[in-house]
Amino acid sequence: MGKVLLRCAGQCAVCRAWSHQTVCEGCLALYARPHPRCWTCAARLPPELLGRPQPQCGRCLREAPPLDRTIAALDYRFPWDGLLQHFKYRQTPGLRESLLERLNTALTAAEVDAPDWLLPVPMSVERLLERGYNPSIELARALARRRGLNCKPEMLRRVRLPPAPVGLKPQARATNVRGVFAIEPRYATRLRGTRVALLDDVMSSGATLFELAGVLLQGGVMSVQAWVVARTPEPGDA
Ligand SMILES: [Zn+2]
Ligand SMILES: [Zn+2]
Repeated sequence: MGKVLLRCAGQCAVCRAWSHQTVCEGCLALYARPHPRCWTCAARLPPELLGRPQPQCGRCLREAPPLDRTIAALDYRFPWDGLLQHFKYRQTPGLRESLLERLNTALTAAEVDAPDWLLPVPMSVERLLERGYNPSIELARALARRRGLNCKPEMLRRVRLPPAPVGLKPQARATNVRGVFAIEPRYATRLRGTRVALLDDVMSSGATLFELAGVLLQGGVMSVQAWVVARTPEPGDA
């Protein structure tokens, strides 16, 4: 994981140049360039697929995920891995705004359809107690304000804590999240027939988002998108 230095006021969090932004323009130009991504899972695609309508990666072509569309603003690598880790454990408003700005820009560029609900991926009660807050809720609320969307985190919940996923193979990870999410029963009717966008800070294998999207579709939701700040570059990615 890349090392991100602690920032003083007025310095870029990445290169420490003097800047009024949390991440300076120079670092954004270097590390936040948009990449062609799979329409349904946001995995990076080779540039030759640029310009094709709704291009998909091999994995999604073999087995379509339960997501209509996935938008990832950044790669989960230096410097964003370190910045997101920092944001996860500390409520840093400047950093939140910077990450949010990246996602908001990516959503605008992708001309996404506005969902009826923007719902953050719920965190287990245990993890919530450990961290004190859910970073995805923070991001979702702020993004909903910017884009004029309805955000109601309490519509979804986690029903049990999965064992730590460290070192698990993607297949095992998919099994690992099975059954952990549920629609809060008192919102089941309001969700039926609507379009939902799920928000998460990081997407790696996609197992969590696919599982949650499956639960929503089973509950009668019409379509599900995933909006994530960063996507883990997969082996063999361009
Ligand atoms: Zn910089
Ligand atoms: Zn894909």
